[in-house]
Amino acid sequence: EYADISLKDIDQVSKSSFPLCMRHLFEKLREDHHLKHGGRMQLGLFLKGVGLKLDDALAFWRAEFSKKVGSERFDKEYAYGIRHNYGKEGKRTDYTPYACQKIISSAPGAGDHHGCPYRHFSEDNLRAALGRMGLSSRGMEDVMDKVRNKHYQLACTLTFEAVYGTSCDAGINHPNQYFEESQKILK
Ligand code: SF4
Repeated sequence: EYADISLKDIDQVSKSSFPLCMRHLFEKLREDHHLKHGGRMQLGLFLKGVGLKLDDALAFWRAEFSKKVGSERFDKEYAYGIRHNYGKEGKRTDYTPYACQKIISSAPGAGDHHGCPYRHFSEDNLRAALGRMGLSSRGMEDVMDKVRNKHYQLACTLTFEAVYGTSCDAGINHPNQYFEESQKILK
């Protein structure tokens, strides 16, 4: 098991180890200080899966949402959902992070930032995002080729291989698996 991530490392880790779907949500949250429900679920459960503790998760979401809606409204309207994800409210189910299949088959609407960028981004936006991850034009064409054939997880696997310069024979099937494999390489 990798070490749990803490709040002070989260920005650095998001850049070094998050798959594109989670990098996007993370960046949007930092930028807009808000995410709609689907994004809060997808990113929130992922962060739980990488080991962010409930108290840190509450502090993290509170810090961002407070800039937009104020901390009182955060405590009233949003804190419950975070505790709920950690099994501390309602039926106390311990919810698990979403796998790629579920994320790929989701249907983000206007203003939503959840989903899988390989499936849900426009070609221009995807190319720009891959460029920010440091892909060469050759690497990018290989990824876009998989995207055109609707092989989104393979596109993500090729991105992983290009970013870390190593093969990923298992293939990517879960954002938390992407994270764990990347941490193994970087440690
Ligand atoms: Fe995220 Fe999976 Fe899509 Fe990769 S393939 S961006 S891990 S949903």
